[in-house]
Amino acid sequence: MRKTIVAGNWKMNKTFSEAEDLLFEISEQLYDTPPSQGVDVIIFPPFPFLELTADAAEDDVFYFGAQNCAEHDKGAYTGEVSAAMIKSLDATHVIIGHSERRKYYGETGEILLNKVKQALNNDLVPVFCIGESLEDREAGRHFDVIKEQLSEVVFKLSEEDVSSIIIAYEPVWAIGTGKTATTEQAQEMHAYIRNLFAETYSKELAEETYILYGGSCNAKNAKELFACPDVDGGLIGGASLNKDDFLTIIYSA
Ligand code: PEP
Repeated sequence: MRKTIVAGNWKMNKTFSEAEDLLFEISEQLYDTPPSQGVDVIIFPPFPFLELTADAAEDDVFYFGAQNCAEHDKGAYTGEVSAAMIKSLDATHVIIGHSERRKYYGETGEILLNKVKQALNNDLVPVFCIGESLEDREAGRHFDVIKEQLSEVVFKLSEEDVSSIIIAYEPVWAIGTGKTATTEQAQEMHAYIRNLFAETYSKELAEETYILYGGSCNAKNAKELFACPDVDGGLIGGASLNKDDFLTIIYSA
């Protein structure tokens, strides 16, 4: 039986003291009033706040991870952060393939496959993001795009490796736009993705795979989206930056 995952992607937001306030407020609240048993919370702060996040997560009130990792092990890659470094701070997860990384930093399927392998080799759970553009959806290509994004990365891996990956379906037209996918659109795509996992690997693996929804998910629409049978929670951007909104989403899950 799958749980519900509520994950917050802070992107490039917050200073150290703002991060400290938000992390410890969330941590205290979750300690005092734990979310329902079937709910896991993951926070993805910017790299410089990972250690601080580890401190705030000390009572195991939430998991945490990084928003990206290098495609290489280590060495002369100025400015990069390796999966091993992230793991050494006790992080458990890493986001890979966010549409902003694909768009602004030219991350291709080949690069993303290397990053996913780095994460798996370092015992980090990759949260692998996929999603179609508005143009793709309007042209009716959305299912093909999703299949391609999975085929060039995830479906190149063994069933054992894939069993440790979380998928985040994030239609690009819904990210940061305030334009959420309808529950019908989300459920339709999540069911399609789950079916691809069943066809490529097995029905058992498909049933165990977590598929999160991301794209303007907020305190008002989260409950309805999470109630879709194939939506296993959300990757939350903007609304995870506000304590009350993020906690409302967690408690509505
Ligand atoms: C995201 O960045 O993963 C995201 C879903 O952002 P937002 O919730 O702000 O649309």
